[in-house]
Amino acid sequence: MLLNQKYEIFPSSEQIEILETWLSYCRLTYNSALLDKQRKYRQSKESYSRFDIQKQLKQDKQEWEFLKEIPSQALQEVFRRLDHAFTKFFRKEANYPKLKKHKDYNSMTFPQFGFKPNTHHRYAASFTENGKLQLSKLGQIPIHLHRPMEGTIKQLLIKRQGSRWYAIFSVEGQAYPAPINRDLAVGIDVGINKYAVLSDGKSYENPTFIRKTEKKRKRAQAKLSKMKRGSANYAKQVSKVHLFYEKVANQRRDFLHKLSYHLAKDYSIIAVEDLEIRHMVKNKRLSKSISDAGWGMFRNMLSYKCERNGSILLKVDPAFTSQDCSTCGTRVKKSLSIRTHICKGCGTILDRDHNASLHILRKGMEQLDQMVVID
Ligand SMILES: [Zn+2]
Repeated sequence: MLLNQKYEIFPSSEQIEILETWLSYCRLTYNSALLDKQRKYRQSKESYSRFDIQKQLKQDKQEWEFLKEIPSQALQEVFRRLDHAFTKFFRKEANYPKLKKHKDYNSMTFPQFGFKPNTHHRYAASFTENGKLQLSKLGQIPIHLHRPMEGTIKQLLIKRQGSRWYAIFSVEGQAYPAPINRDLAVGIDVGINKYAVLSDGKSYENPTFIRKTEKKRKRAQAKLSKMKRGSANYAKQVSKVHLFYEKVANQRRDFLHKLSYHLAKDYSIIAVEDLEIRHMVKNKRLSKSISDAGWGMFRNMLSYKCERNGSILLKVDPAFTSQDCSTCGTRVKKSLSIRTHICKGCGTILDRDHNASLHILRKGMEQLDQMVVID
């Protein structure tokens, strides 16, 4: 299933002028193809195929130089739209296609995106290395990638909405069964002090039995470091340390299985921080302790258990989740040692991790609002 993901783009005034020109060329092409189709049908009762249209376009391009200014992929997509409009009409899903006015024609499609593997051929649309959107014959446009994109980009739609411009990517992704119960949404912050803090106030400690085994493991490890290498006792101690390692790992896996099972069962929407980005954003020591606590394993378990239960797992950009106020958005800088969030903007006082989980939930819901299922 394809999902739409929408991001605002910021073309310069020259680029806007070009985009507007492209849109009007697309609209003219659409309207003239529609008229050609109607004319041919009136004259010969024959349908005017896409093949005929493409042939006509080739002629048009020779006659009208300006049609060469627009990426040809985007122009060809115009015919697919017209075809689609007729298909919908014949299926009685829509009225007979009409000529489009300026206000009705506000988007164009780039059906391919990115690099062709193993060649250096560039598609009409791609990302640059510095994270901008690259359109052939137009150049680079800054884009606000406010959340990570997941899956394979199938096509790009450039859309004008009022005075703003958007890039809408169709991405092949996880299929979300509808309907989704928005009341059963939760944000989860995975931390150090507590294993997980939920936006509804619940929290899960690292279980004491894991901490006990961990303590034993450390003690065994310390004892080992004082022993003479190569001795019989040394080998015995090594296997003891290994056993404790394994025991901790098993206990943790077991705990995470249970926790992820309950979360996926109890909630229909779960928002967590995106692990890859989190590693980049947050400091190394924090990342280390989080990966020690099996964050990656936990997220994987959540991911497939959510899929199995028909719940949605949303991965959000972790930037400032623990800093910003979940109520009003004010940035409240705090070091790791500060455990309470006190907002001077709105007076909100919350446990640091609870504030973060509420913020993660909000980001997740914003993300959900922008994911539109298309057929
Ligand atoms: Zn606030």
